Amino acid sequence: MSINRANSSMPLVVQKFGGTSVADSQKILAAARKAVRAQQRGNQVVVVVSAMGKNTDTLIGLANEINERPPAREMDMLLSTGEQVSVALMAMAIDSLGAKGVSLTGGQIGIKTDSSHTKARINSISTERVKALLDDGNIVIAAGFQGVDDNLNITTLGRGGSDTTAVALAAVLGADQCEIYTDVDGVYTTDPRVLPEACLVRQVGYDEMLELASLGAGVLHSRSVEFGKKFNVPIHVRSSLSDVPGSLIVDDAETAGMVVSGAALTKDEAMLSIVNVPDVPGAIHKIFAPIADKKITVDMIVQNASANGESTTISFTIPKDEIDDAKEAVAGALEELGCELMPVNDNVSKVSVVGMGMAEKSGVANRMFRRLAEGGVNMNIITTSEIKVSALVSREVARDALRIVHSEFDLDKIEPTPGTEEVKERTALSPEEVIERLRGLGMEDLTIDEITLDDTQSLVILTKVPNKPGVAAELFDQVAAAGVFVDMIVQSHASDDVADIAFTVGRDDFDRAVAKTQAVSDQFGCEGVSSKREIAKLSVSGVGLRSHTGVAIGMFEALGSAGINLDAINTSEVRVNVIVDGSAGKAAEKALKQQFASSLR
Ligand code: ASP
Ligand code: MG
Repeated sequence: MSINRANSSMPLVVQKFGGTSVADSQKILAAARKAVRAQQRGNQVVVVVSAMGKNTDTLIGLANEINERPPAREMDMLLSTGEQVSVALMAMAIDSLGAKGVSLTGGQIGIKTDSSHTKARINSISTERVKALLDDGNIVIAAGFQGVDDNLNITTLGRGGSDTTAVALAAVLGADQCEIYTDVDGVYTTDPRVLPEACLVRQVGYDEMLELASLGAGVLHSRSVEFGKKFNVPIHVRSSLSDVPGSLIVDDAETAGMVVSGAALTKDEAMLSIVNVPDVPGAIHKIFAPIADKKITVDMIVQNASANGESTTISFTIPKDEIDDAKEAVAGALEELGCELMPVNDNVSKVSVVGMGMAEKSGVANRMFRRLAEGGVNMNIITTSEIKVSALVSREVARDALRIVHSEFDLDKIEPTPGTEEVKERTALSPEEVIERLRGLGMEDLTIDEITLDDTQSLVILTKVPNKPGVAAELFDQVAAAGVFVDMIVQSHASDDVADIAFTVGRDDFDRAVAKTQAVSDQFGCEGVSSKREIAKLSVSGVGLRSHTGVAIGMFEALGSAGINLDAINTSEVRVNVIVDGSAGKAAEKALKQQFASSLR
């Protein structure tokens, strides 16, 4: 087959239409018009569609009526039909408009995945057939959300996976832009369905979006943003109901000097706390390895240094519907280690604020804690990253808590600015570069950007803090008032009565931080303060951390086998941090670099 070079150099756009944008025949025709218009403007066009409306939910309901635990392979066989209906109808719509369109299933395109049914990962995508069809003047309509494994079993990518199909196709085809058409007109400071006062943001960075998307901002499947970041695909989120520009997700977003750019709620979390975990190397790994084996997505993981040096508490969160699996997974480790799982709290939600500006500016965490305390909101777990602070709160107050922080950081007062359809420069990788990056790796394999060792900090722990609103606020207000910059904050949840709060500060600030913490301990009747001047903080950051439960586990494994004990752990979507003794810093760094050698970019 000859490839028409003239056509191949035409701009290429991928347009993805979500379920609401193809919910009925009129909407399918409207979407088809957008695709044809884009083609008439001189673009090659690939359209990716989701199942119509709530069709996927309907199919799931049907499956559950027949079998409470339907075999995953058959689930994929069933669910993939939703997208197949959409592609066929879209192709007919395009034909009715006088343009040429060809529909393709994931298998027909050559979207190869692993075999983990209902949450498969893309290994590779062939481009020949799509390119040939495009060069022949067709609009190619690709079924989202699906692929095939090596044995041609149909797989699906997990709920919301069509976004990922779209960005992945954009990456391998070297598309100039990936447009995600949806029922909202862009990315908001928080989910406008939860808070109507949310404001549209014109540009947002990949990292911010990663923290937001998987934190529950709900606009995009987080793995699609990971692809965007990994392959430098500008993602344009916009409304299918209008032609106005929406929000661009790009590498270096212009944020107009805002410290916090978004807030998010993850509603249906469950919190597990394991107490009396022996404070010895390797214990943590024993607990999390079987959880990872079951592919349970662990969200927050927090662990605090033990005050007594004997045992620690680990708290972590998982999706509510995976509680039974998680309990089953950890049972063996609990017995072996002699630790105890506290009653699972499945009534918690996570509230987070995110912003690139936080990396340099202090005062975000304490402001958030103060306002939540004033609103009477208690925090069960706290974890931070350089650009995020998250607190786990009771579900009944979650929306109020979100509203409080959203307004505290003026996210409800962003002035609308005119959007632009223009991507500043074409930043997408060339197909050669994509292939280069893929060499030896599956598309969704983990990429580690960085493994860093910071041995300039100290650790301060306030122990047995009464579990009520206001202690964290007071602690971090006092510490901030003393001019101390707090880096990592970790609060684990030992019981409903008490929690431990640990945080790190620069070594120069150590004495002042300890003194302030002691004052707060006295004021609130906590057990006391324990501390360690010489610690090392190890961070692993990169793309795919969230969906690769394996990163944290890999860290625990490497450090455990190197005989290194963990004093504290916290996690975010783009970073996992652990604190070890200062004397073990270099050895820990070496162990981690070895562990992740094949994923280091
Ligand atoms: N139809 C699938 C779902 O509802 C995939 C998607 O819409 O992105 O999850
Ligand atoms: Mg979706």
